[in-house]
Amino acid sequence: MTKPSRIKPPLGHDNGWWWQQAAAGKLVIQRCSACQALRHPPRPMCGECRSMAWDFIESSGRGTVNSYTVLHHPQFPGYDYPLTIILVDLEEGTRLTSQLVDCDREDVSFGMAVEMFIQEDEDGFKIPVFRPAVKELN
Ligand SMILES: [Zn+2]
Repeated sequence: MTKPSRIKPPLGHDNGWWWQQAAAGKLVIQRCSACQALRHPPRPMCGECRSMAWDFIESSGRGTVNSYTVLHHPQFPGYDYPLTIILVDLEEGTRLTSQLVDCDREDVSFGMAVEMFIQEDEDGFKIPVFRPAVKELN
């Protein structure tokens, strides 16, 4: 029996491009073309200067845990519970909600260094998730 697939995010004009980048293995951040302010989640207008012009940059995928929560319920098909959901401060300065994997929930702490990788579900859907950053060897 195959595992049910996770619920997919709705892909629209304003965010579909972001998920296409994730499918290509990249974590990207929307950038205002007028004032260079970074923003996430993707949206049509800059909150700083109201420009509608934008491009994006690729994130390093490195960040720290700003906050986290452990989800037990409700349980949706396609996920392995409990889930550790984290609010990540990316080193570029924006925040992102994601999942922390490869880490016991007792080991999560505020400020811990994490790094992004692209997780591919059994049905081929790709999503950026995080794991504890590999310690520097020096
Ligand atoms: Zn702007």
